[in-house]
Amino acid sequence: MIEMSLLLVVLGLIVGSFINVCIFRLPRNESIVFPGSRCVMCKTPLKSKDLIPVIGYFLLLGRCRYCECHISIRYPVVELFTAFIFLYSFFVVGSSVKLIEVLIFISFLIMISIIDYDHQLILDKTVVLFSAVGVIFNIFINGSVSVLDMFLGSLLGGAILLLIAIITKGGMGGGDIKFVAALGLWLGLKLTLLTIFLSFIIGGIGSLLLLAFKIKSRKDFIPFGPFISIAAFISMLYGTEIISWYLQTIVK
Ligand SMILES: [Zn+2]
Repeated sequence: MIEMSLLLVVLGLIVGSFINVCIFRLPRNESIVFPGSRCVMCKTPLKSKDLIPVIGYFLLLGRCRYCECHISIRYPVVELFTAFIFLYSFFVVGSSVKLIEVLIFISFLIMISIIDYDHQLILDKTVVLFSAVGVIFNIFINGSVSVLDMFLGSLLGGAILLLIAIITKGGMGGGDIKFVAALGLWLGLKLTLLTIFLSFIIGGIGSLLLLAFKIKSRKDFIPFGPFISIAAFISMLYGTEIISWYLQTIVK
């Protein structure tokens, strides 16, 4: 248990570090493999010790070794956050094939959410890859969601968001629609509907908090992708329980 927990923390830090690379490079249409990591200011290639997740940042005291520019605190924060979520998922799911699915799922969610937060954009290439991995998992590895369920989830989920986009006249972007359609392929119909429902609750509360703490003003566009992601994470881990609780207590 302890060994497994440690392994997941280390894995989370490494994946978080890779997510940092993707967040920076994918929107700029740069390769995520080549060249190796460089300082964003002076472009000097970084040494491997600088690249150790979290530790590298503190060894450098948050500054580039060469040009002394500040390195964003977000790099270690994303790494620590990913490690925390990996560990948390392990405690909820336990070690199983499902855990691998959940870890890949949330890695995509974190990457897509931060890119959306930064650029108000959900990139087609991330959504396509996310969809493909979801299909592979459901058909060949896990088999928890049937092919019919995947396509119903994807089509209906996407259609609902499209409808909302039309009604709200652009409150929802094309990226959000494609993102939910991709989630349908991972989650199937029921959990996708739950994700949409939860994303509006979380989005409402989240937007109020962002305004209350003056992180965003009324004029700012608040990207919806991160709220969809939080909802999808909850649905993936607890969706089945939430739905059966709902059917037992509320509907009766
Ligand atoms: Zn530098």
